[in-house]
Amino acid sequence: MSLFDLQGKTAIVTGAGRGLGEAIAIGLAEAGADVALVTNRTPADKTAARIKELGRKAITIQADVSDRDKLPGIIETTISELGGIDILVNNAGIIRRKPAADHSYEDWQDVIDVNLNSVFVLCQLAGRHMIERGSGKIINIASMLSYQGGITVPGYTSSKHAVAGLTKALANEWASKGLQVNAIAPGYMSTDNTEALRDDPVRSKSILERIPAGRWGTSEDLIGPAVFLASGASDYMNGHILAVDGGWLVR
Ligand code: NAP
Repeated sequence: MSLFDLQGKTAIVTGAGRGLGEAIAIGLAEAGADVALVTNRTPADKTAARIKELGRKAITIQADVSDRDKLPGIIETTISELGGIDILVNNAGIIRRKPAADHSYEDWQDVIDVNLNSVFVLCQLAGRHMIERGSGKIINIASMLSYQGGITVPGYTSSKHAVAGLTKALANEWASKGLQVNAIAPGYMSTDNTEALRDDPVRSKSILERIPAGRWGTSEDLIGPAVFLASGASDYMNGHILAVDGGWLVR
């Protein structure tokens, strides 16, 4: 359907070497986009090869997004090699599990740097470019912990609440300039991020019991929502936090 067609569009996806980011990057390419794959420690060669098999362009950019000085390079390289930025997906994220009383300031700072500060700076840099062009789609990856307090992850919860707030703030400013800024809040998805929970029989059981869909999510469950928010099909959506959670929140 042409409403969801991303042919001729260019996307940046952070954390695109594994997990949710890898699936989103491949999904955007399946819908027609060329993609800049940003990774820190995981090479994105496998994701890039898959995208090229689909007949789309893929470039790989190695950058630690918590290093603010590296962020302009992501934007500049994408514009020079792919011709512009239509879609930005801020997916890179980390989680540190420690009770609040023992949560080190270093853990707090690391999580805020990756999950929040990089999102603000990349939105700002890509946003300037999109404002000049009069269009653009930004998708930030939020969380169930954009709504809830979570258990022993105070830094992560704070960062994801802030990502939801930032998404709304930017949507307010940029909707009139032709940009759509929205977020996806994944539920409990089976990736490295949630390995510790799935390995804990007590937490694993209680989480599963609360999911109406009766299963953990998969990376592929995010492809449809990401293509939707990246495409013309969502042109009148601004500042929405789209829960993709198998019903977790409505339980
Ligand atoms: P994951 O499997 O742990 O992957 C984390 C991703 O973030 C990796 O691609 C990693 O890249 C990237 N990353 C981490 N630190 C980085 C840094 N400093 N610079 C650049 N990239 C960095 O996690 P995931 O489950 O796919 O999570 C993706 C996003 O969804 C995160 O924002 C997470 O908070 C959010 N989320 C996940 C779930 C879930 O249930 N899985 C639920 C809600 C929200 P490298 O490997 O290259 O370091």
